[in-house]
Order: sequence, then structure tokens, then C-alpha cells
Amino acid sequence: MIFEIINTGNELMLGLVLNTHEQWLCRQFADRGYIVSRQVAVPDTAPDIEQSVREALSRADLIIVTGGLGPTSDDLTRDAIARLLGKSLKEDAAVRAHIEKFFTDRKRRAPESTRVQALVPEGALVLSNPNGTAPGLAMEVRPNPFRSGQAASWLVMLPGPPRELKPMFADFVMPLVERSFPLADRFVCRTLRTSGIGESVLQEKIERLMKPFLDAGGELGYCARPGQVDLRLTRRGVDAEKLVGEAEAVLRRLLRAHIFGTNDETLESVVVRLLTERKKTLALAESCTGGCIAHRLTNVPGASVVLRGGWVTYANEMKQKEVGVSEAALAEHGAVSEVVARQMAEGARRAGESDYAIAVTGIAGPGGGTPEKPVGTVFIALASPKKTEVFKMFNPWDRPTFKDVTTGQALNQLRLRLLAD
Ligand code: ATP
Repeated sequence: MIFEIINTGNELMLGLVLNTHEQWLCRQFADRGYIVSRQVAVPDTAPDIEQSVREALSRADLIIVTGGLGPTSDDLTRDAIARLLGKSLKEDAAVRAHIEKFFTDRKRRAPESTRVQALVPEGALVLSNPNGTAPGLAMEVRPNPFRSGQAASWLVMLPGPPRELKPMFADFVMPLVERSFPLADRFVCRTLRTSGIGESVLQEKIERLMKPFLDAGGELGYCARPGQVDLRLTRRGVDAEKLVGEAEAVLRRLLRAHIFGTNDETLESVVVRLLTERKKTLALAESCTGGCIAHRLTNVPGASVVLRGGWVTYANEMKQKEVGVSEAALAEHGAVSEVVARQMAEGARRAGESDYAIAVTGIAGPGGGTPEKPVGTVFIALASPKKTEVFKMFNPWDRPTFKDVTTGQALNQLRLRLLAD
């Protein structure tokens, strides 16, 4: 089975947009046991699109083309592919009605240019787009004039915006793939997400006891991200579920609370779940993370039940005014100190009338470091009904990574506390 992806768009070639489709689509396939063999990004020109599709059709069983289905002059995918395959384009009444309704619902008139999105190449399936106007298109190229023996290929066109592409892929493309390209063997993939342990220490810890799983044909992949390492277990075959289950049990025994979640769970979703289950609330006082903790928590549906609120107390006066840090503590210990972190967390817990509070204060850099408190020094305080704990961390990374790692550490400390309480 040969799967290929073609991402179209000048914005990708100019580095204006990160090609997240490539990563996301490959991951969707890999999690279900399909491996993408080639991925290419091309500019928005008809010759580039035609050439890349013609080449892919000469090799692949399935080709996903993303982008270029919109109404503007640089949206050429539909036309270029119809021309390449010698298919005429016809207006689809249902798509036209969907586009009209999309605009009427938003109290706007559908611009004339959107009509082009209702054009469908002869023989193509229409993949409806509840989140936008351009439908996806799927066509079986049979016979395929570009392939030896004219063996058939599936060609799927998806819109560029991720919030349109993702649901369409999940609702239509994956079922179509599973129907048209059933796997010979059962395939099981499970990702265990860990925090608070580095990649090499983790490997040393699990290597020996994972050997039987690997020797029996299982695969174990490590994926390190800032403050987190994911372990991906995969296995094919009739007993895949059982063997992955056994390997997971070994990892859980070895890594215990380092494992915070499975598959798509995040630290923030786990924290929101634990707080909700325990009927507890949280307040935040963030300095160097600038609201990142609040941001990540509020990405989780249902966070409003547990998150009371937070303060970005960047200036010393705000630390005093909003969460009651004392002038003496600031003068004696400095804003980046255990004492101030503690006062911030306790003050946030008081002012936020919450069960728990997290506070962070640190030196993100690149300036502001001293020999005693170098860039990367950060104090994370966690106030709970029983006690306040302060953790001193050292995260000497660039500012975005510093914020990301510190946020993860703070959420992880709260997770561990909730599990212990
Ligand atoms: P539209 O109707 O919005 O024009 P389209 O199907 O024509 O949709 P494009 O114009 O190619 O899609 O892309 C629209 C937007 O989608 C891009 O500006 C970009 O923000 C996002 N996008 C496109 N391709 C990718 C990609 N490979 N990875 C991440 N985002 C992408």
C-alpha cells in the first residue's frame, strides 16, 4: 500500500505557514497502521500541482492533496486535477446551496467568487464541509493512465484550513481508507505520555523489561518534547491487543506517576479532570509564564468548572497589590525567590477563594540573570488546603521553550499533588 501526501500553497514555500498538515496526516495514518511513503509541498501553480499529482499517480494507491480549493485566484487544485484527468467540472446544486446557506447564516451575501467552490469534477465524491465553504473531493482514478498496468488510485482533495481539513479527514477520509485499504493484520498503537523524567533516564529504566515485547515483534518509539516524553507502543497481529496491554502494564509499573496520560491526553486535560473529579478549584498567579498556564487550562472544555481565575503579576507592584506579596519579601529576597513564590501562591489561593493555587516566578532571559540566580531559574509554588510547597527549577531555554516547560512543570506538580491528596 503506497500512500502519498501533496501539500499545496505558496505560503508553505515562503515559510509563512508551518506545514502542520504533513505532521497531522502522517500521525493519523500511523496511529491506524498505515505509513505514508512520501510527502511533498508545492507552490500554488497549475504546472506544479499537475506535475506532483501526475508523479504521485504513477506510484501511489492513495494520494491526499491539501489546499487550493478556495475561491481566490491562487486556488487552483480543483481545476488543475480536473484538467490532468480530462474531467469536466459541473456545478453541484447541494454544494451551491450549502455555500449560500453558510453565508446567509452569517448574515452575509455569498460573493460571486465562491461559486467556483461548487464545481465538482465528473465522478468525484463530495466530502461536505460543515466548517467552511469548500467541500473536499474524492475520486477513484480507474483506470489510472499514469500507472503501470493502469492500476487504480484514490485521489482525495482537502481544504487548507486545519479546522476544515481535520473533521473532514476523520469523518470521511479515514473510513474510506479503512474500507478501500483494509489492513492484513490487526494493528494496535498506544501512546503513553510521561512527564518529569528525561528521555535517557527513562530509556535506562525500561530498556531491560521491554526487551521481550520488542523481541516478539512489538515496536517502542520515544518522542521527546519540551518537558514531556511520549512512549509509543505498536504491534501487529492477532494478539496485538494482548501484547500491547502487557507492555503497557510493565511500563505503568516501572514509571508509575510519571505516566500522566494516554494517546491524546494532555497535562492540562488531566489536571482539569482530576480537579473536576475531586470537586476542587484552582487559582493562578503567573509572572514569567505570562498567562500560559491559564491559556493551556482554558483550552480544555469544562475548565470553567474548576478554574476560578488568575493574575499575570509581572511587575512587583502587581504582585503586592493583587496577590498580597509583602514589600519586605521583595526587598529581602527579590521577585524571583522561594519566599515570593510562596506568598504569590498563598495570596492567589486567598484572593481566588480556591482550593489550590499555582504561582510561578522566574528569569526567562536572555537578560536579568545573576551568578546566584542565572537565566532559567524559576520557582513554582503550589498552595493546597494542607500545605504550600515550592519547587526550584532550572530551565535555561529560549523564552517560548522556557514558558512551555515551566507551564508543564507547574501543571505536573499540581497533578502529582492532586493524586496524593
Ligand atoms: P480557503 O478557502 O481558505 O482559501 P483552501 O482550500 O484554498 O481554503 P489554502 O488557500 O491553500 O486552502 O489555505 C488556506 C489556509 O489554510 C492557509 O492560509 C493556511 O493558514 C492554512 N493551511 C494551508 N495549508 C496548510 C498546511 N499544509 N499546514 C497548515 N496550515 C495550512
